[in-house]
Amino acid sequence: MADPSQQNILIIGGGIGGLTLALALHARGIKCSIFEAASKFEPLGVGINMLPHAIKVLSKLNLETELYRYGVEAQEFAYFNRHGQVIITEPCGKFAGYDYPHFSIHRGDLHKVLYDAVIDRMGPNSIYFNHSCSGFTQNDRTVKALFENTESHTGSVVIAADGFHSNIRKSLYPHESEPHYGGINMWRGVTIQKPFLTGASVTRIGTVDAGKMTIYPIRNFADGTQMINWVTEQPRSDFKKNDWATVGHIEDFIGPFKKWNFDWLDIPDLIDNAEFILEYPMLDRDPIDKWTFGRVTLMGDAAHPMYPRGGNGGAQAILDADSLANNFEKYKSQVRAINTYENERRTIANKIVLTNRQQPPDYIIEKVETLTNGLPFDKIEDVINREELLAITERYKNIAQYSIEKVSN
Ligand SMILES: Cc1cc2nc3c(=O)[nH]c(=O)nc-3n(C[C@H](O)[C@H](O)[C@H](O)COP(=O)(O)OP(=O)(O)OC[C@H]3O[C@@H](n4cnc5c(N)ncnc54)[C@H](O)[C@@H]3O)c2cc1C
Repeated sequence: MADPSQQNILIIGGGIGGLTLALALHARGIKCSIFEAASKFEPLGVGINMLPHAIKVLSKLNLETELYRYGVEAQEFAYFNRHGQVIITEPCGKFAGYDYPHFSIHRGDLHKVLYDAVIDRMGPNSIYFNHSCSGFTQNDRTVKALFENTESHTGSVVIAADGFHSNIRKSLYPHESEPHYGGINMWRGVTIQKPFLTGASVTRIGTVDAGKMTIYPIRNFADGTQMINWVTEQPRSDFKKNDWATVGHIEDFIGPFKKWNFDWLDIPDLIDNAEFILEYPMLDRDPIDKWTFGRVTLMGDAAHPMYPRGGNGGAQAILDADSLANNFEKYKSQVRAINTYENERRTIANKIVLTNRQQPPDYIIEKVETLTNGLPFDKIEDVINREELLAITERYKNIAQYSIEKVSN
């Protein structure tokens, strides 16, 4: 009988995590195939931040040059209160002394960089489109991935990289409750305009209750303009289903921002001039205490869907891919590899899910809002000192695994 360790690793889902895993396995000479439900890839979504922990993995895959071509290398995080007053700025990526840059990039561009590399290095036959996985069967030597309306494929292990709505997770946890909605809805858009602040600032302004925006550039254009990504989070009791293509409407969220015409950015103007607006609820799922079942394991959003705060949804999928590939290289037994991967990654990722709910980096602004009763301040030093503010971001960096020390290891 064939040794399953010589067979194919089946990756279900060709998103950020699945494509990174394929590239990482290919770089180590390990065979895999990708099965993607979509018939082709569209540049859906808006901006995504890729911090140095994720870029370290992508750099090892020789993708840094392409990321420089498409993305904007971020220079700083900048936090403002709702009056547009700066609370703190903090350098990021190479500007903070990391060995790797921080990129702000359109999710479609990041995905294209990964997809082009897969096609270039592994060939078009490495990815099967129109393959929507409905579940799997397994025995002690092989696993069979089942697909809607097309033949099944047998491999040595299945890696479920099928995202937030993972069918494989559903088959492993058939009684799992609906996604957790914490009462916050998001509207996201992109606007083409002249740069603001440094031209490479990841900016967070205000609080969910008083009005909150996160704004950063994701593409540079030859004429000096940029594509600026923006997102607002607002409390809402109801929400539309989570689909990255749901169209949003200005009148549903503009309320708190009508007077946010700051001397460093005119936010009503930014919103008014959006190319398009999408609406998306802030959803995640409660952490689960097992990802690996025999020859099947979960990764990325299928394993640990989290609120898109703090630049970690995509990054943690990339770190999963790196851990999986390292363990497949290290262990002859692929079952041992996926169990070791889970041991390395599950506790960390689950903690980020909970931290993103309660205390993401923008907690800095919540804290100042409370200390000032929402009023403008004369000098931030009179409200809180810089060390206390930096302690909040340091805590998050440690939990999310992107402190300078961790990334340098
Ligand atoms: C269309 C889209 C747009 C997004 N836009 C943004 C954004 O603008 N900003 C942001 O921060 N995050 C965005 N995200 C989420 C972000 O990409 C993920 O949170 C993160 O990258 C985790 O990666 P992942 O590989 O686990 O999941 P994803 O990148 O979501 O990839 C999952 C992949 O699995 C495929 N798939 C799903 N079900 C099946 C199935 N049954 N069989 C086979 N394949 C399946 C999907 O088509 C997708 O290609 C978007 C996700 C998607 C799918």
